[in-house]
Amino acid sequence: MAIKVCKFGGTSMADGNVILQAAKIVKADAERRYVVVSAPGKRFSGDIKVTDLLYKCSDSLEAQDVKAFKEAFEKICVRFLNIEKEIGKDLGMKEGLEAVEKEMLGGAGRDYCASRGEYFAARIMAAVLDVPFVDATEFVRFNEEGVLDETTFDLAKKVLSAYPRAVIPGFYGLGVDGKVKTFSRGGGDISGSIVARGVMASLYENWTDVSGFYACDPRIVNSPNWISELSYQELRELSYMGANVLHSESIFPVRSVGIPIRICNTFRPEDAGTYIVKACNYTVGETVVTGIAGKRGFTSITLEKSLMNAEVGFARKVLAVIGKHGISFEHLPSGIDTMSLIIDNIYLQEGVLQQLIDEIGEAVNPDKIYVHEDIALVATVGHGMAKNVGTSARLFKALSDAGINVNMIDQGSSELNIIVGVEGVDCANCIRAIYNEFFNER
Ligand code: ASP
Repeated sequence: MAIKVCKFGGTSMADGNVILQAAKIVKADAERRYVVVSAPGKRFSGDIKVTDLLYKCSDSLEAQDVKAFKEAFEKICVRFLNIEKEIGKDLGMKEGLEAVEKEMLGGAGRDYCASRGEYFAARIMAAVLDVPFVDATEFVRFNEEGVLDETTFDLAKKVLSAYPRAVIPGFYGLGVDGKVKTFSRGGGDISGSIVARGVMASLYENWTDVSGFYACDPRIVNSPNWISELSYQELRELSYMGANVLHSESIFPVRSVGIPIRICNTFRPEDAGTYIVKACNYTVGETVVTGIAGKRGFTSITLEKSLMNAEVGFARKVLAVIGKHGISFEHLPSGIDTMSLIIDNIYLQEGVLQQLIDEIGEAVNPDKIYVHEDIALVATVGHGMAKNVGTSARLFKALSDAGINVNMIDQGSSELNIIVGVEGVDCANCIRAIYNEFFNER
């Protein structure tokens, strides 16, 4: 029998009734044998995710503020005890929570604290489905650099082969120090992908609160086109640039073995969802652009120097400076005598930008350095672009008609994307203009 892996996100685990709905989805298809869960998320706008409360617990302990810790932990207890009540089964929540509180107070660490939402959520789902709970620490491994270790896949295969069905907590595994370690936020999607790879699933279903991907953010364009199918590469580009449906790294475990991912809606299970596959079938002239995504919060540092083109080692010296600060760049557009670095503002806290400018100045002695601190990057993505002549001409005409000034252009070498840098305030207008050009053809 084929195997499907289902991953339920935070909104699908938010309260007892939704968890019962998720369990009903699992039971409706005998092929849904492995279930990965997130911690309970928001039940309504303004609500707090359990993971955020857990981080609050950890921050309070670090600040030695026991009162704040108790307050946050109490809120977590109320969430889980309510879930237990709504499900109407003794799930041992009280004892479990007491034990975890002790561990936290005993210095178990930040990642351990953050991981407990998934841990309890998986215990609950396992009890509801009457299926074994298998802890992610049994097979998810991180390496010295803190990234997913390749040994994880074989270990997942070995561990999970002993269980015909299992519920596994998402978001965490074990670090090289033998302690619990988490992925970045939203990393439960990566856990689902690891399990799918471990059991060689025929499908990885990612259950969330939307019916798939839209061609752009519905908060920017009213009812945008829905995408029925996109490739792993297109997904990576769109999610990296802010399309928040799936973690941008979640394709890596399944990509090399070609397991498709389906985005499904827990609250509308009958919807077809979006399939993410190895290669899509495009008809020339029909699908030019698959989707558009963008985000604000980048800085560009542009260096100008006469005869830069002939100066051997110029770029290497500049990159050595940012490398020394542990900063990776997003884009590196260059001209004959100019070079720009586009950097995510998360790296530029507390005087780092000034430090970079000073050190780059010293390293390569440029004639001028210009800095622009509020850049938005907008990616127009689609395999169809390579096959359709005139795509970039249409895109730039649309931006010029909308009065949007383009600061930077970068076209990926595979012609999968065209990325433009615009003023932060123009981000939404830029997305709208491109969407209207390719999807609302006049
Ligand atoms: N609970 C974690 C978060 O809120 C991970 C996840 O939901 O995937 O980021």
